[in-house]
Amino acid sequence: MILLNSNDMTKLGCGECIGCSDCCRSMGQSIVLDPYDIYQLQKATKQCFAQLMQETIELHVEDGLILPSLKMQNGTDACGFLSKEGRCSIHVDRPGLCRLFPLGRNYDEKGLRYFLLEDACRMPNRTKVKIKKWLGVSALPQYEKFLVEWHDLRKGIQGKILEKQSDEYTQNINVRMLEIFYQKPYDMTEDFFMQFEKRREIFISEML
Ligand code: SF4
Ligand code: SF4
Repeated sequence: MILLNSNDMTKLGCGECIGCSDCCRSMGQSIVLDPYDIYQLQKATKQCFAQLMQETIELHVEDGLILPSLKMQNGTDACGFLSKEGRCSIHVDRPGLCRLFPLGRNYDEKGLRYFLLEDACRMPNRTKVKIKKWLGVSALPQYEKFLVEWHDLRKGIQGKILEKQSDEYTQNINVRMLEIFYQKPYDMTEDFFMQFEKRREIFISEML
C-alpha cells in the first residue's frame, strides 16, 4: 500500500462523475459521520441532529461505539441527499468520506496519510489529481488535525469499552459522546474546530 500526503497526486479524476452515482448507492452504513460532517450537514440543511435522524442519517455500532452514518433510503437504496438526476444535493458540504472516495485514510505514528483504493471507482482512465484539491477542504491543516484527534478519541473510547466490559459503562459513554459531539447543535457563526476542541476537553475530563 502506497501512503500519500495531501500534496501528492494520484489517479482520482473521474470527469466529475458524469453518468455515475455508484458510491452514493447501496453503501449500507459504511458512510460514517464525524462531528465535522454533522456541522456541515447542519449548515447545508438547517436541520439539527434529531431532524437529520428522521430521514437522512441513522445510528450504527462499531466495536461498541455508536456512531451516525448516512442512511440508504428504503426503496431506492440510495443516499437521501442524492437528487433524482443522480447528483449530490449537498455537494459543497458533503461528508468527509464522500469527499475522500476512492481514497482511504491511514493513521500511524506519522499522522494521517492517504491511500488509493485501486478498484473502488469504476470510471476508466482516471486522471491524476492532487489529493488536497480532490478533498476540497479550505482549512485542510485544521481539518487533518481534527481527524487525527477524532480518530484517537474514538480508539480511546473503544479501548475503554473493551477494558470495562460493562453494559452500563458502554451505554453511558455512548450517550455522553453522542450528546457532546453530535446532538448539541453547533454554532454556525463560530469556527467548528474551536468548538470541537472545547467539547473534546469536556468529554475527556468527564469520561476518560
Ligand atoms: S464510483 Fe467514481 S465515478 Fe462513480 S460516483 Fe463514485 S467517484 Fe464518481
Ligand atoms: S452525501 Fe452526497 S456524495 Fe455523499 S453519498 Fe450522499 S449524495 Fe453521495
